[in-house]
Amino acid sequence: MENTKNTKRILVVGELADGNVVGIIGELLGVGRRLADALGGELSTVFLGSSIIETAKQAFAQGADSVYAVDDTVLEDYQPELYASVIEKVCKDLAPSVLLLGATPIGRDLAPRLSWRLKSGLASDCVELSIDPETSALIATRPVYGGKALAEVDCGTTLPAMATVRPKSQAALPPDPARTGDVVLLNVYADPAVAKTRVVSKTTAEVKGIRLEDARIVVGGGRGMGSAENWKVLEALAEDLGGAVGATRGACDEGYCDTVFQLGISSKRVAPELYLAVGISGASQHMTGVSFSKHIACINRDASAPIFSEAEFGVVGNWEDVLPAFHRKVKELLSG
Ligand SMILES: Cc1cc2nc3c(=O)[nH]c(=O)nc-3n(C[C@H](O)[C@H](O)[C@H](O)COP(=O)(O)OP(=O)(O)OC[C@H]3O[C@@H](n4cnc5c(N)ncnc54)[C@H](O)[C@@H]3O)c2cc1C
Repeated sequence: MENTKNTKRILVVGELADGNVVGIIGELLGVGRRLADALGGELSTVFLGSSIIETAKQAFAQGADSVYAVDDTVLEDYQPELYASVIEKVCKDLAPSVLLLGATPIGRDLAPRLSWRLKSGLASDCVELSIDPETSALIATRPVYGGKALAEVDCGTTLPAMATVRPKSQAALPPDPARTGDVVLLNVYADPAVAKTRVVSKTTAEVKGIRLEDARIVVGGGRGMGSAENWKVLEALAEDLGGAVGATRGACDEGYCDTVFQLGISSKRVAPELYLAVGISGASQHMTGVSFSKHIACINRDASAPIFSEAEFGVVGNWEDVLPAFHRKVKELLSG
């Protein structure tokens, strides 16, 4: 289904968790607001789920002009084929010019399915979006070559132009409680027969302290930490810094850390104020997950490790010698 109507509507595919609109949706509404203003169009968002109307209303304060919902018990849990079929129908009704999703596990799964169904292209994992003032095409900027370069993609005239956006790459608008409205319920049939899988159980990962994706400081550990016992040193430092611990695949492979904390091209991506890499070589597959950190510092005993060309500050040495003194200084500064 190709959209031939140019409605100038920017449509954000919403995500909800624990009774709230998830953080990336605030960012998408922030960038969507700019795009809608540049196009002279409307900023809309659509949520799928069960009993979601009250939660969906939060999107007005975050910048949406209109909020839509498909509310059905069969949509309680994310299911790829079901969600894709419903959003395809929603796009047929609303005919957006631009369709935005978060580069989250759900968005990364849904976006290619939708782009095929909508006969559109997809710019994935974008860190910047704008509108070409002459052609009104969506211009998407996305990291390539493991984050070593940025490519600018002209999404052309096929509508809707589609992009997934990397979490923490956009500024959300300050919430405006004066902006309110009614959620429009869409009468779209969610056909459970299209689902090829079903959720049989859900397990919540236990997270001590701050979530990795939300942390302003991330202490990253690599294979150079040497053991699961040594890993506790990183956890103690992260706790005192009010941050979280991330890991390389090397560290996870060695069993020092659970894979839910792995950062990189095939795992989580973060963009904290500070990324402190300890015992990490700096392989491009890992750096892709942290390259949008504001500052990167490292400790590595090998002066020729690639991490030194990525870091702003680096110490050549064994972490066993460097980290305890650093941690002591952190405590001293925090207590003073
Ligand atoms: C398709 C593909 C996808 C991948 N995806 C990911 C991904 O998403 N995330 C990811 O992390 N990796 C990923 N990898 C793996 C990646 O290429 C690297 O192998 C991995 O990141 C290396 O982890 P590391 O730096 O901990 O280990 P190593 O490369 O073994 O480096 C350990 C470092 O610790 C230093 N060191 C050792 N002892 C000490 C000490 N006592 N004090 C200080 N420094 C010390 C060493 O000098 C060395 O530089 C992927 C690979 C492939 C092929």
